[in-house]
Amino acid sequence: MNTDLFKKIIAGEIPCEKVYEDDVAFAFLDINPVNPGHTLVIPKKWSSGFLDADKDTICELIPAIQKVAKAVKEATGADGINIIQNEGEAAGQKVFHLHFHVIPRFVDDGLEHWYGKAVDDETAKTLAEKIRHSITRS
Ligand code: AMP
Repeated sequence: MNTDLFKKIIAGEIPCEKVYEDDVAFAFLDINPVNPGHTLVIPKKWSSGFLDADKDTICELIPAIQKVAKAVKEATGADGINIIQNEGEAAGQKVFHLHFHVIPRFVDDGLEHWYGKAVDDETAKTLAEKIRHSITRS
């Protein structure tokens, strides 16, 4: 499991194309961009992903993500932006240090979104109840 890579990038032990840094956040170009300008925004404080990050880190990181997203949009002339976080291997996470992908999108860039699946009402109701219950206990 890759947990150290981004720590090394922050420390300057692995080179990167840095675009932003403050006390909490660090942002650099993705080495394998979905579109040119694809940027990763990460907290300096390590967590594996979003779910185990502490609230203060999340609160302080969000403005940096917005700042970088605005800059990526302006610099690339993108028509839109995807901000994505993959949580867990099943969701496509490869590097286990919380990171948000800021991906510039263009009207004709050929990328497709995933498709929705139909769910019957009973299943949706049961799941909504379980989620509400889980939130109440948290
Ligand atoms: P994820 O699949 O959400 O864990 O995304 C990991 C991302 O890290 C991928 O988009 C990779 O292209 C990117 N990545 C891996 N190694 C590097 C590196 N040395 N510098 C910049 N980006 C990297």
